[in-house]
Amino acid sequence: MSFSTQVKDDLTRVISSKPCCRRAEFIAFFLINGNIRIGNGRRLSFFMQTEHSASVRKMFTLARDFALEREITVHRRTQLHKNQVFTLNVPPQERLTAFLHQLGMVDDRGCLRLVFPEQIREQILGAACCRRAYLRGAFLASGSISEPEGSYHLEFSSLEHPQADLLVELLADFGLNGKIVRRKDLEIVYLKGAEEISQLLNIMGSHRSLLEFESIRVTKEVRNQVNRQRNCDTANINKVVNAGMRQVRDINYINSTIGLSQLPRNLRIAAELRLDYPDYSLADLSEISALGRSALNHRLRRLAEIAENIREYGTEEWDR
Ligand SMILES: [Zn+2]
Repeated sequence: MSFSTQVKDDLTRVISSKPCCRRAEFIAFFLINGNIRIGNGRRLSFFMQTEHSASVRKMFTLARDFALEREITVHRRTQLHKNQVFTLNVPPQERLTAFLHQLGMVDDRGCLRLVFPEQIREQILGAACCRRAYLRGAFLASGSISEPEGSYHLEFSSLEHPQADLLVELLADFGLNGKIVRRKDLEIVYLKGAEEISQLLNIMGSHRSLLEFESIRVTKEVRNQVNRQRNCDTANINKVVNAGMRQVRDINYINSTIGLSQLPRNLRIAAELRLDYPDYSLADLSEISALGRSALNHRLRRLAEIAENIREYGTEEWDR
């Protein structure tokens, strides 16, 4: 099962005990996914379609609050993946006009207005509980989310312009930064980033999926950290080995020019130690020789200077 389907399954199980929220959720689904039909004798009906069967069953339940007569039908797509499509049909009936009135979609003269009901917005989305419910309905109608193992992406797709604007506003109410992108003649609102997606799952009430999302996210972060640490360790090892090799080169150079025996005793000891353990770090050398780290570091630096002086001024002039 895809993570999108899992989140939707989760959301269909959340049935609010408050009529205000049930109404907001149904209206979100209707405004995004509903199609109004004007039939013979200008009789109105509408239908809402989705491939997610539990969503349609939930809308069937929520429509009870509006006392709408309704039925669910199923058919299989003839093209593409031949998926099943579930339709909630609301046939022509007295109550339908009342329902559309509630949405401000029928004006005082009884004319249909296919616009977003700006004037009743406060009434439907005034309370935070209802704004959460609206986002839930919107996700059921048009949402999808990428698998959390990959990159983080959540979107509401196929939106008319006013719907996209409204979603961005509602997301902003909860401190989320929804972005709009146009695809063909419709719009998409999307969220990026684990933090924001996680918050939205919480806001919509998708708690089971939220837990799974968070646990995958933590696993991923730990894995990234381990990889970073490993890269860092490798870099350190390379640094140690490079430093050792450079010192061995210098010491060999001193030996081949003036000879190690010409060095003061403390430098000779350090030089021989380095030649014996070319890949040891300073700390390792210090440990096996019982010489202090800073003394050892000083001597190795001194050896590098001597080699440098010999290169520059010749064997006669090296600085004792
Ligand atoms: Zn409410």
